Amino acid sequence: MPRMPTPARIAIGGFQHETNTFAPYTAPFEEFVKTDSWPGLAQGDAIFSVMSGMNIPVAGFIEAAKRDQHQLIPMLWCSAEPCSYVTTDAFERVVEMFCNKLREMRDLDAVYLDLHGAMVVEDFEDGEGELLQRVRAIVGPEMPVIISLDLHANVTEAMVENATAITVFRTYPHLDMAETGARAYDLLAVALAGSKIVGGMRKIPFLFPLTSQCTDQEPCRSIYQDIVGAGQASPGCLVTEFAAGFPPADIYECGAAVLAYGTDPIALDLLLDECFKRVMNAESLFVDALMLPDEAVVQAVGSTSSQPVVLADVQDNSGAGGTSDTTGLLAALVSNQAQGAVMAVMHDPEVAALAHSLGEGAEFDASLGGNNGPAGVSPFKGRFVVEALADGNFRFTGDMYKDLPAELGPMALLRIVDQNSDVRVIVGSERVQCLDLAIFRHLGVEPEAQRILAVKSSVHFRADFDPIAAETLVVAAAGVSSCQLAKLTYKHLRPGVRLEPSGFTTKAKSDQM
Ligand SMILES: [Zn+2]
Repeated sequence: MPRMPTPARIAIGGFQHETNTFAPYTAPFEEFVKTDSWPGLAQGDAIFSVMSGMNIPVAGFIEAAKRDQHQLIPMLWCSAEPCSYVTTDAFERVVEMFCNKLREMRDLDAVYLDLHGAMVVEDFEDGEGELLQRVRAIVGPEMPVIISLDLHANVTEAMVENATAITVFRTYPHLDMAETGARAYDLLAVALAGSKIVGGMRKIPFLFPLTSQCTDQEPCRSIYQDIVGAGQASPGCLVTEFAAGFPPADIYECGAAVLAYGTDPIALDLLLDECFKRVMNAESLFVDALMLPDEAVVQAVGSTSSQPVVLADVQDNSGAGGTSDTTGLLAALVSNQAQGAVMAVMHDPEVAALAHSLGEGAEFDASLGGNNGPAGVSPFKGRFVVEALADGNFRFTGDMYKDLPAELGPMALLRIVDQNSDVRVIVGSERVQCLDLAIFRHLGVEPEAQRILAVKSSVHFRADFDPIAAETLVVAAAGVSSCQLAKLTYKHLRPGVRLEPSGFTTKAKSDQM
């Protein structure tokens, strides 16, 4: 007879990082402790109080688990803004906290972990695989261990081997984070009811950039519908998933994958083949219309619409490890005499602090941003007027972050003094992806009243900005959240992976943009 614990004791927690190995900063422990655009490290019951109602997987899991009155045992949850390698010290400290808590638990029935799936640690390539191996070593081979992953997960064999089942976000912009956590609970409920869950993965042998992964556009809109639909239509299958991958990670198992979990191994095998073929058949459709900064600004300046043109500075997205301080698009706005243009968010804590010390109305000379590369990027030197100051404490209002509280430190709205252009820039003390209109409003800028909005974001901005935009132009200014993958020099990627759809497998030697 299948065992059916009522109520079950389920350990829950989360550890999130998306590692861009081409980015300049590492992620020390402190980055996981502090609050930024996501909550800081939460332990024990604080997970319930902090996460409640948020569009974050663990919150969706908790809400779904309530209906069955299981006992949830909160361990810890933490995340850091995407950047380069997680330090070994940070990884070991966080994982030891998980493992200590698991070792202390008695009569545990299951584990749920809210992970990203693209964590690279200084000492090893697969952070989540390593974490799951250590969790398995404590809880044993039979206990259900369910994980949810970001759509940008680079899913590895070690994750598949050590997790009972994996479920993945299905939207980019990620509107379904909490929903994915709830789906993870549904999988866990099946396992707790005694069913043996099996599953597998097929890796996709080509990389495609973030800008071609948007699920509101083709080819991903149809791919996700078809892959999810195929699983739903198949008896013996619980979920079919497509992780689009996080390409700027120079690791062996970088890239997209399809996954399937259920109770019928033969049906799942056929489904995996079908889902793999569905993605492969669309390979040539993963194309991007990247524009050069001057070309995009000239087109935006020529717009006759009463609505703003959105310029997406896609390669300087802090949400993909970008430094959020490159200056190529800002310089193009000024040199092409843009009017009514506002850029957000330029990360420069020193200039933000200087603006606060001088006060609103002050005029000053400064070198803004451009402090962290890549090659060819330099600070924007100019004269600025402080138009507005803010403390960085506000709530997001868009569908992705909903009511999430932000703690971004001192921020400033600066006007660039130039007789031919009308360009303003929001300067911040924390790297934050400009994915929500609330960032502009926090500095007193009404987005719909501007002619041009320049946002440092790859795709997430679309949920909040596309509805008010006359048009959206995708701009390839320099930055480390590269969307031109053939220009990156991969040293660890497994052989035979094409660096772009239908492209070459040879490793490009050209410099990185
Ligand atoms: Zn993501």
